[in-house]
Order: sequence, then C-alpha cells, then structure tokens
Amino acid sequence: MSIAVDLHLTILGVIMGLILVSLLVHLTLRRGSALSWMAAGLLCVSVELLVLRYGAHSRLGVAAIAMLIPAIYFCASQAIRKVAGLPLSNRRVALGTIALTALSLVLLAMPVPPTLQYVPFQLASILVFLDTTLALSRKTGRHVLDTGLVVLGFLVLVGVILRIPMFPALLDEPTPWAQFDPVLFERIFIQCMGVLNTGLAVMIVARIVANVIVGYRYSSERDGLTELLNRRAFDALIDRPAASHGAIIMCDIDRFKAINDRFGHHVGDEVIRSFAGTLSLHGDHAGRVGGEEFALLLLDTGIEQAAAVAEKIRRAFDSLHHPAIGATVRLSASFGVAAFDAGVPARTAMRSADRALYAAKREGRNRVTIACEEDPRPQPILTAA
Ligand code: GH3
Ligand code: MG
Ligand code: MG
Repeated sequence: MSIAVDLHLTILGVIMGLILVSLLVHLTLRRGSALSWMAAGLLCVSVELLVLRYGAHSRLGVAAIAMLIPAIYFCASQAIRKVAGLPLSNRRVALGTIALTALSLVLLAMPVPPTLQYVPFQLASILVFLDTTLALSRKTGRHVLDTGLVVLGFLVLVGVILRIPMFPALLDEPTPWAQFDPVLFERIFIQCMGVLNTGLAVMIVARIVANVIVGYRYSSERDGLTELLNRRAFDALIDRPAASHGAIIMCDIDRFKAINDRFGHHVGDEVIRSFAGTLSLHGDHAGRVGGEEFALLLLDTGIEQAAAVAEKIRRAFDSLHHPAIGATVRLSASFGVAAFDAGVPARTAMRSADRALYAAKREGRNRVTIACEEDPRPQPILTAA
C-alpha cells in the first residue's frame, strides 16, 4: 500500500507547527519582536501555500502570491535583523520592495507575458533579503549562528534568483525554457527551497533561544542595582583568574549608613550606582560583593600599579558632588589592595585585601592600604589630603 503525500499540505503542516511554537515561546518569554516578525512571515508562507494549492489559477490568486512572496522575505529579513541586533531595513529598501511589488500588480493587469509580470515582485524579495544578508555578513563580532544565517541566506538567494525564469511553472504556465521539465522542477527545486527555508526558520528560532540564554546568563551574573558582577560571579572569577598574576582591590563606602539615614535609601542607592560607575571605568572585572562593598580584579598588574588605580578611584569619589547630597557632605571610600601570583592564590589575595581595607577603616577611612605579605598588619600608604 502506498501513501500519497501532498507536498504543499505537508509543508503547510510544518509551518503551522512553527507558527504555534513561535507564538508559544513569545507568550511564555514575552521577548519577541523577532518572533513576531517570524510568526508574521510564516503566516504569509502558509497563506501562500494555500493559494498555490487552491487558487493559483485565478487572477486574484496570482496577485495574492505577488504580494505574499515579498512579504515573506520582508518579514524574514526583519526577524533576522532583530535577532542579530541590526536595525530594521531602511526606508529606501522598504519603499523599493513596495514599488517593485506594485509594479508586478500593474503588469498583472496588462497583456504582457507571465514571466515578465512575475519578475518585479521576485526582485523585491531579492532586494530586501540581499540587503539583510549583506548587512549580517558585514557585522563584526558575529555569533556562530549568524554565520549559519548568512550561509543559508545566500543559498536561499541563489535559489530565488534561479527561480525567476522558472516561476511560471509553479502556476502551471509555460516558461521561456523550452526543455524545462516541471516535474523535475517540483521534485528537486521546490523541495530544496522548502528545506532551505525551513532551515532558515529553525536557525532564527535557535538564535532567539541563544539570545534568551545569554540574557538569563547575564542577569544571573549581574547585580541588579549597579550592573557590576554579583558576588557569585566575582567569586567564580577569583577562583579562576585569567592571568597568573595580578591584584585585587577591595573597597567600601565610608559611613554609608549615615547617608541612608540622612538622605533616604533612594539617595543611598544613587551613591552606590555612582561609585559603581567610577569603578567600572577601570576594567570589566568589577563586582559588588556586599551592600556598599565592591571589588576590582586587575590582571597582569603589579601591587604599586593597583594601589595607584585605587588612589585614582578614591580621589574621583572623594570629589564627587551628588546633587541630592550637596557640597556640605563629602563622599568617601576606603580601599585595601593585595597582589596574587603563582605562589599566592587570588582567593588568598582577596582575603588580604579585605584585611587591608579594614585596616584603612581603622586608620581613619578615605585611604588606600596595601596588604603586606611579610607583615600581617597592612601598611597605609596613601591617605586623604
Ligand atoms: P563604614 O565606614 O564602617 O563602612 O560604615 P558604614 O555606615 O558604611 O557601614 P555599615 O556596615 O554600618 O552600614 C552599611 C549600610 O549600607 C547599612 C545598609 O542599610 C546599607 N545598605 C546595604 N545595601 C544597600 C543598598 O543596596 N542600598 C542602600 N541604600 N543601602 C544599602
Ligand atoms: Mg561602609
Ligand atoms: Mg560595609
């Protein structure tokens, strides 16, 4: 017994499934402008398949196909742009796509050969999709899935270009190729395009999922108030520093409770953000390790150099005039600095820097203290002017 499979209806089923998945993911994660573009594109594909199956012989059906195909490539292009962090297609490309589609509609109403009538809307699809594929191929720092999208994008474009003279065969009309075999066209070409387009849709979904994972990973490693690394992420960095030697600066805002008590918790939050901003100017490895306590990891940096960085941060914060606090109250912070190398693990250096920080507090605050390996009592080296 043989089972007859209708190609159009099979692809339609797959696409309806993808639309459902897109909508479900969109509703669950609520982050979906790329998904919305993709769902819109897939919806156009399913309508196109239905028209090809049941209405391709009517003038209205052909006009619908002339609009649906550029709409599919337009939506797919926007989905790719959104997911790869590129701006949407510019106005010139959008207008060009609309103008070429409109030209096809005008030609459809005129007594010209079908091949000619179908060329402009296919050029419209090529225009918008080529513009996006080229933009993605030029993007620096591409994700590996973006490279996959570029490769698939160019293959789809080759297919669309090759399809131009063969397109009338889709609608059971004569093509300019006398020797052309429509059965072969359906078997090989349409099926290849189906696989490529489905691959493209799956790749876009994979890229959306990758973005979601990166987003969740970022928020699991970041402190919500300052966007610096949180305690857990900073600890992970300390346990596996990316260099064999370097330094750690531990810092704590001085008499911060008094700022909260006097100006309110929201002003306290602003001060914490300001301090974090100053700290993040000195590298990517800055963390908020407690309420008003921070840490900075400096790779391949000697102790003297690290102390100079700490002093720079101290001075910058000391001279900060926060509008909500006014000039009468001086902000300050204390710092402890320690070095690590092959003999001293970064974790041990962090503890030494913490002890040096509390020594700085005891010595009167608003100063930088270097942890001294030989002497368990840290040495204050730089003090407030
Ligand atoms: P010291 O100079 O000895 O460090 O004194 P301090 O007042 O800065 O230190 P203490 O540990 O007594 O107080 C820290 C305060 O920081 C207490 C806590 O309410 C406040 N704090 C902790 N986290 C936050 C936060 O996220 N926002 C605000 N506004 N305050 C916070
Ligand atoms: Mg404090
Ligand atoms: Mg503290």
